[in-house]
Amino acid sequence: MRSGSVRIFRVAGIDVLVHVSWLVIFGLVTWSLAIGYYPPLLPDLTPAQAWVLGAISAILLFASVLVHELAHSLLARHRGLEVDSITLFLFGGVSSLRGDAPRASTELLVAAVGPLTSFVLAAVFLAGSAIAGDARLAAVLGYLGLINALLGAFNLVPGFPLDGGRVLRALVWQITGDMRRGLEVAVGVGQLVGYGFMAWGVVEVLAGDAFDGIWIAVIGWFLQGAGAAQLRQVRSEAHLGAVHVRDVMRGDTTAVGPNTTVEALIETYLLPGNRRALPVVSDERVVGMVSVSDIQGVPADERSLTRVADVMGGRGGVVTVTPEMPLAQALQAMLTGDYEQVPVVEDERLVGVLTRADVVRQVQLREALHLE
Ligand SMILES: [Zn+2]
Repeated sequence: MRSGSVRIFRVAGIDVLVHVSWLVIFGLVTWSLAIGYYPPLLPDLTPAQAWVLGAISAILLFASVLVHELAHSLLARHRGLEVDSITLFLFGGVSSLRGDAPRASTELLVAAVGPLTSFVLAAVFLAGSAIAGDARLAAVLGYLGLINALLGAFNLVPGFPLDGGRVLRALVWQITGDMRRGLEVAVGVGQLVGYGFMAWGVVEVLAGDAFDGIWIAVIGWFLQGAGAAQLRQVRSEAHLGAVHVRDVMRGDTTAVGPNTTVEALIETYLLPGNRRALPVVSDERVVGMVSVSDIQGVPADERSLTRVADVMGGRGGVVTVTPEMPLAQALQAMLTGDYEQVPVVEDERLVGVLTRADVVRQVQLREALHLE
């Protein structure tokens, strides 16, 4: 589960999560509608009614974003991709697909269907607004038509990770046959657009419109940062292409038994060996990994009584890698579990340790030497 998100319900077998930032947006949208948008439009409105209309509109905006994301997810699933969850957050939503689309055409369709859905929603709401008999209903539907049109348009901006950026990635991928090239172009454009938004935001603030200016600058900051992280990961994986765990691991097979005391671990193994972590081996099998952070919580006077087995990591099943495993795959496993180091195991026997620092150093070396 994405951190900071809460699961609210399940639709068509897909978990729908709400990021905490959405609560802030919900409040902001309700507030700005109740104070600034509805009162001039509907002069007879009492303040209480304005707040109710604001809250209803914010909920329907939430529903609109959800429909947009469901369109992505359901089409992705129809095209054979696995969909884990939808997370609704600051500027809309993110559909979490397991892995990348295997084909450019799939990526293109899955990305494009979101903005298309928003435009269809906009048309439906605007038509409803035009024929609504009640002025308040017409105002709410009119707002939703406008905001869905904006959502569709904003998402079409051709910068990754927005839908338009994914469309651009798919097009470049289709033309060049190279997915990474497509991502590089889409991220590059996304960063340009991001810096453009930031500059625009600053101009707005200087012109005296601080609220809009800060909003626009935050969106720009998000845009230029989000793509960069994705690109860094793809580049790291490319730089690690032909490297295996064997090439980077340390062949140190020093290990402790589960019954070793924390005191002995520190005095006999960590300090003299200048180590931060060690595998835990029982009957020649790796059963865990104990690190400085695991034992930090043990008070000094209990270190002679506490056994390694009680504090080690991996008690619920230890994550190991093999020497033949591609380094990119091992790195993925480490990042997924947030491990700083994992034991390297061959035929169930400990043959070494792989640390994240060593993997990062290898990536940096290869980048510096322009090796792939
Ligand atoms: Zn979308």
